[in-house]
Amino acid sequence: MARRVIEVVQCDACAAKGEEVPASDELRLGTDAWDLCGEHANRFAGWFRDLFEMPTEPEADEDEPGPDVQEDDEKSGHPTGPAPTVVITGSIPGYHPHDAADAVRSRGYVVVDEIGPDTSLIVCGDDPSAALVRAARKAATGCFDAATPGAFARAISAGRLPEGDELPSLKRKSTRLKESA
Ligand SMILES: [Zn+2]
Repeated sequence: MARRVIEVVQCDACAAKGEEVPASDELRLGTDAWDLCGEHANRFAGWFRDLFEMPTEPEADEDEPGPDVQEDDEKSGHPTGPAPTVVITGSIPGYHPHDAADAVRSRGYVVVDEIGPDTSLIVCGDDPSAALVRAARKAATGCFDAATPGAFARAISAGRLPEGDELPSLKRKSTRLKESA
């Protein structure tokens, strides 16, 4: 027994109000679909037009934060000149010496053993070498005092080693023993 079924698709939005109106449009969003009459299709289309026009409005506020443009190479981790050289001396709290050196290298620095005229920085952990500290003082090398717990980890995660710390005084007991030896 053949039977022909004639389907009339109703507007889902009208159906929600209890009205039966034939649908003439289909709205698909991802996995959802709604059948809509012409009137509802136009109304929903208007909502979407409004939605997509919204981002143009708050533009006026964007002028305020300002100095984004100033952000330059300094933060990019790849200084334009030759890689700065760094001497690490003393023990850095929480780091094995080779891990500390690896961390410094990972931030674009070259780790060297001796202070030279072009050495950028001396990183001083606990009980730094008196000879290196003296050499750094003579060469006016920048100093990062990494003896404070957490200071080194913070600098590494910031991607930049500070250079403005005071060179450690050489009056600590262990250092004095070494100096007199
Ligand atoms: Zn409708």
